[in-house]
Amino acid sequence: TVTQDQLVGWLAAFRDAVHEHGAHLTELDSAIGDADHGSNLVRGMDAVMAAVQPPPDSVGALLKKVGMTLVTSVGGASGPLYGTFFLRAGAAADNATEFDVAGLAAVLRAGVEGVVARGKADLGDKTMYDALGPALEALDAALADGADAAGAVRAAADAAARGRDATEPMQALKGRASYLGERSIGHVDPGSASATLLVEALARALA
Ligand code: ADP
Ligand code: MG
Ligand code: MG
Repeated sequence: TVTQDQLVGWLAAFRDAVHEHGAHLTELDSAIGDADHGSNLVRGMDAVMAAVQPPPDSVGALLKKVGMTLVTSVGGASGPLYGTFFLRAGAAADNATEFDVAGLAAVLRAGVEGVVARGKADLGDKTMYDALGPALEALDAALADGADAAGAVRAAADAAARGRDATEPMQALKGRASYLGERSIGHVDPGSASATLLVEALARALA
C-alpha cells in the first residue's frame, strides 16, 4: 500500500528537488522562455509545504490543498497546470487515506488528464506532458507486469527522464517557447525537466 505519509514525503522530496535543481530549471527556461521556471516552483512548493502542515485528514484533501496552493502562489503556465494536476488527482483520491498500487495509478492518471484538459498539449508539443504521458504509460505497463508500487513508479520515473530528453530536438507548439518557432529546437523543455523531478520524487518516496 501507499500511505498518506508517503505522499507527504513525495511532496517534501519534490520541494527539495526544485530547490536543488531550481537554478537549472531556470537556466532551461532562460533559453526558450522567461527564466522563471525554477523560481516559480521553489515559491510554489515552499507555499505547499507550509500549507500541508498539519496534513489534511485524507489524501484527497491533501492533494486538493496542494493544487489550490500552486494555483494561487505560482503565476505563469506551470502554476495552473501543476495546480490542475493535483486538484484532479485529489478529486480522484476522494477521502481515501491509503491506496493500493492500482489506486495510485488511477489518481496519477486523473492528474495527467487534468494537465491535458487544461493545457491542450499533444505528445511532441515539447511540454511537461512529454514527460508525464510516457511516465503514465510505463506505470500502467509495469502494473500489468505485476510490479509493486515502488517498482512501477521507478519505471515511470525512468520513462519520464527519457521523455524529458526527447524534448530537446522538438519544436515547441505550446506555451511561451512556441513563440520562438524553430529557435525552440535544441533545448530541453523546462516543464518536462520539472515533471521528471516530480515523478522521480515519488519513486524516492516509495522506495
Ligand atoms: P511561463 O512559461 O508562464 O513562464 P513556467 O516557466 O513556470 O511558466 O513553465 C513553463 C513550462 O510550462 C513549459 O516548459 C512547459 O513544459 C509547460 N507548459 C506551457 N504551456 C503548456 C501547455 N499548454 N500544456 C502543457 N504544458 C505547458
Ligand atoms: Mg517561464
Ligand atoms: Mg513566466
